[in-house]
Amino acid sequence: MSISVIGANKRYGEFAALDDVSIDIPEGSLTSLLGPSGSGKSTLLRAIAGLDRLDSGTVKINGRDVSSASPQQRDIGFVFQHYAAFKHLTVRENIAFGLKIRKRPKDEIKKKVDELLDIVGLTVFQKRYPAQLSGGQRQRMALARALAVDPQVLLLDEPFGALDAKVREDLRKWLRKLHDEVNVTTVLVTHDQQEALDVSDRIAVLNKGRIEQVGAPDDLYDRP
Ligand code: ADP
Ligand code: ADP
Repeated sequence: MSISVIGANKRYGEFAALDDVSIDIPEGSLTSLLGPSGSGKSTLLRAIAGLDRLDSGTVKINGRDVSSASPQQRDIGFVFQHYAAFKHLTVRENIAFGLKIRKRPKDEIKKKVDELLDIVGLTVFQKRYPAQLSGGQRQRMALARALAVDPQVLLLDEPFGALDAKVREDLRKWLRKLHDEVNVTTVLVTHDQQEALDVSDRIAVLNKGRIEQVGAPDDLYDRP
């Protein structure tokens, strides 16, 4: 599904968190929203998710205004920095959760969860509880859980932000692999330029509530 944001404005008092932001996010792309803290990245992501109302402007997912769709119709996978897993459920049960509440057939759930466990490399840990996982493994579980229900779009808000540098680097590779296999339109919020360069097809650079540049990594940055 493609995402299109048209003339988005959002103020908190006098402060413009989003100042006339427009961007087209192509179907199947992995687009990063890159910028310093306070530049409006999360506000834009929440607007795309339909979680926050804009003061003006619209967000469309495949041509449909998100504000006119019910939460179920929006069908969005969301992963945050501090991911809340169900601590009394195993890794497998956490990933299966969304499919169970949608009452999908058992064999379909099994197949899907096996596939995702494999993609995120957690097959051997499927019977563990979240507390028994490393931070990186927990975020991989979060990605698998968000994808289990085949969301239209996947929105990631600094999903690796709380982890140390080595693990973050590792997770970039997982995210890239996951995206190549599942190919869902993905938007990643990050303040880490290297992360954006490593994983994205496109980068939108935000500053003070405005998009300063949008393009492929190689169009924006001169890399050795
Ligand atoms: P980023 O994700 O780039 O760090 P945010 O979108 O979270 O930026 O925030 C953009 C600006 O809007 C920040 O200056 C922040 O303080 C402000 N802001 C965000 N949410 C609120 C809120 N609920 N109330 C007041 N100010 C907010
Ligand atoms: P993170 O995602 O936080 O980097 P890793 O999964 O890379 O965590 O590693 C966490 C620990 O689990 C490491 O000690 C690693 O050696 C071990 N580990 C990772 N994958 C497997 C696996 N498939 N089988 C057994 N041990 C593993």
